[in-house]
Amino acid sequence: MASEGQNHRLHIFFFPFPAHGHMIPTVDMAKLFAGRGVRATIVTTPLNLPLISRSIQESIALGLAINLVSIKFPCAEAGLPEGCENADAVSSYSMVPAFFEATTMLQEPLEQLLREHHPDCLIAGSFFPWATDSATKFGIPRIVFHGTGFFPLCVSESITAHQPFKDVVSDSDPFVIPNLPGVEIQMTRKILPSFFMTDEDTFLTRMFKAAKQSVVKSFGVVVNSFYELEGIYADHYKKVLGRKAWHIGPVSLCNTDNKEKSYRGKQASMDAQDCLKWLDSKKPNSVLYICFGSRSDFTENQLREIAMGLEASGQNFIWVVRKSKKGNKEEGDGDQDEGWLPEGFEKRIEGKGLIIRGWAPQVLILDHEATGGFVTHCGWNSTLEGVSAGVPMVTWPVSAEQFYNEKLITEVLRIGVAVGVKKWVPVVGDYIEKEAVGKAVKAIMEGEEAEEMRNRAKKLARMARETVEEGGSSYSDLNSLIEELADLSK
Ligand code: UDP
Repeated sequence: MASEGQNHRLHIFFFPFPAHGHMIPTVDMAKLFAGRGVRATIVTTPLNLPLISRSIQESIALGLAINLVSIKFPCAEAGLPEGCENADAVSSYSMVPAFFEATTMLQEPLEQLLREHHPDCLIAGSFFPWATDSATKFGIPRIVFHGTGFFPLCVSESITAHQPFKDVVSDSDPFVIPNLPGVEIQMTRKILPSFFMTDEDTFLTRMFKAAKQSVVKSFGVVVNSFYELEGIYADHYKKVLGRKAWHIGPVSLCNTDNKEKSYRGKQASMDAQDCLKWLDSKKPNSVLYICFGSRSDFTENQLREIAMGLEASGQNFIWVVRKSKKGNKEEGDGDQDEGWLPEGFEKRIEGKGLIIRGWAPQVLILDHEATGGFVTHCGWNSTLEGVSAGVPMVTWPVSAEQFYNEKLITEVLRIGVAVGVKKWVPVVGDYIEKEAVGKAVKAIMEGEEAEEMRNRAKKLARMARETVEEGGSSYSDLNSLIEELADLSK
């Protein structure tokens, strides 16, 4: 076995950025590596620990060597409220720099662990630019995990290198993304992350710059994607942009039974069995699943508009609502004002629609045969989970690199329609009217074009499953990576 050198079992440290969109796929990755005989140690912070331990318990019971260790998150030192250890607890944009600053203080305790445990490799999130130096200190390779795919990585590199947004006069003028293979992709300044277009020297701009530089100095990049999905962009990233990278996804497919699928991330707010029972009562491809990831939020007006759009569309649906936080109230708090729900809404939709307040067992729902469409904020994990489930998507990007993923879904893969968001915002989504919601939803659920999108999506889903099977491209790339690391560790 590749991981078994002479009497030496390859030991990898996984250090995910403390946000669900990074932690969930990293845990899946650790399970995948452990499944090939590697010893995996996941490093996290105390409040994130229970989230991870739940999702690895099945694998540990099966005998996989996955270990979990925690280091203190310096909330007070960074000026954050106690308990703010995960990006989903960052309730305002003004807290973002302090949160990132706190993560830089994890360097010393992480190095202490590297000193004690002597792993052979460190796979760390891209927002820890310093992790490359830490690994170098201990003579081991650092691999970067961005948590996103090849297409968005290529777009991001192109925008940084060529700054095409400087060639247009207004924020809504389109420009072409230069030096990108495949179909021509146009964007506007309005949908670019704000930190791209500022010349200001802030902690965040320095951090993003350092993150890009650390990729060049690192051993390589591990990507949660598969060649059949975005091969031309994988080739471009490796051969033209010169990055060493391995595609090993979709990593979510390592979760094969319902328990594993429902234990990803937070504790689900609705029992997985109840969810399945509800879905079992519906016809194949007749339910729309609506979820905007772990961080995006909307105003009450927007939530009401979504509710009305969904009702008017006449579709069955499961809608996950992370309610806007008010004061200190946590999401899912039953006492919270429910002014965002139209009068009598839940009564009217009984049997047809289901609202999950808080956290849903997403992959379990997407993989059910009754689920036939996905309204998504286009986070990379959700995008890939939608692809793996073979469902057409309504794209509703909010922030991060989600607008790039929207282009991949609607223009490259042609398995979705855009709801029509025009503006990048850090957390709280842009406003879309109920008519646009209803129209987009119908476009992926009914009619000939919906059928064509569904067929293309189903084909990709089949390829996703094949690529992680023995002999598949992602399966082989993971083997190659393990072999290279095993050679280095000798
Ligand atoms: N997720 C989930 N239930 C929820 C919300 C999110 O299981 O109610 C999972 C989802 O399956 C995905 C991750 O959380 O694996 C979100 O990652 P993504 O990249 O899609 O978005 P982010 O939260 O990073 O914006």
